[in-house]
Amino acid sequence: MTVRIGIVGVGKIARDQHLPVIAATTEFELVATASRHGSVDGVRSYRTIEAMLDAEPTLEAVALCQPPQVRFDTARAAILAGKHVFLEKPPGATLSEVDVLGELARARRVTLFASWHSREASGVAAARDWLARRAIRSVRVEWKEDVRYWHPGQAWIWEPGGLGVFDPGINALSIISHILPRPIFVETACLSFPANRSAPIAAEISFRDTEGIPVSVELDWRSTGPPIWDIRVETADGPLLLSQGGGELAIAGEPRKTAPEAEYRGLYRRFAALIAARTSDVDLAPLRHVADAFLRGDHRTVEPFED
Ligand code: NAP
Repeated sequence: MTVRIGIVGVGKIARDQHLPVIAATTEFELVATASRHGSVDGVRSYRTIEAMLDAEPTLEAVALCQPPQVRFDTARAAILAGKHVFLEKPPGATLSEVDVLGELARARRVTLFASWHSREASGVAAARDWLARRAIRSVRVEWKEDVRYWHPGQAWIWEPGGLGVFDPGINALSIISHILPRPIFVETACLSFPANRSAPIAAEISFRDTEGIPVSVELDWRSTGPPIWDIRVETADGPLLLSQGGGELAIAGEPRKTAPEAEYRGLYRRFAALIAARTSDVDLAPLRHVADAFLRGDHRTVEPFED
């Protein structure tokens, strides 16, 4: 069965991933968009979600691709109108608002899907399987990229709720909270805020798991050159290295074969399965880790950042 879907917020991720993946699948059909400036050729476009919901009563689902600070009201409107909802990551600007959405979706019997695209990266499932049976000694995450290259002129990302360097960093947290066999929690953190910005440009976080295994995470947006998106897990059977954001996997120094990148194909397949099963998937662990880093962290001021 094909699900009639609308996209809200036609910007970078909608164009890079949602539109081509929806166009290539038979599980979804894009029937409308709601965006103040963006539109898609051949698809009915509206400026607001309210206008889209009013004019498209047969719409069954929406994918919300705007910044997290403005997602709650659109998600609420969609759920109240009886639509299934796909939330881009992070699922909201606060934990409580996403809890509210989860309750609302349950009451209205619609699917709410808090997506974590990096969990669909092609090395992640094999890493999780391998680690389930290993004695882990330590974990080290390095997520370093050039913000000027990856987020040029994105004002929202520097505003409160935009998460700053945690916008990409939450992808690493979504992977480690998925592949490690035990829960982790923040012990210490140091967040570096540019003097002229409301969100951090770098962060160092120390977690440990329930058996005391240390997990260190280093996020930095000031890195020029090729990005580093690596997770290294030391085990009694040798190291596991997930690199390229989870797309490449090596175990004990031996590269493992991984499938071509298809993260959003995996997300839409999962959304379709959740809708068919009339259930939801709202895992808040990655966002909770970010919130804990903000709660527990030392906040330092560093030099101003200009785009
Ligand atoms: P973006 O291009 O800056 O914004 C997406 C769209 O949201 C904009 O085109 C805009 O559409 C609407 N929007 C922007 N600011 C808004 C505001 N203040 N109020 C209402 N609508 C606003 O952002 P993006 O890079 O696509 O990221 C969107 C979400 O996807 C974020 O949560 C991000 O973490 C996630 N994501 C991004 C990437 C990536 O590679 N960029 C990858 C994975 C996930 P209109 O002006 O037309 O309304």
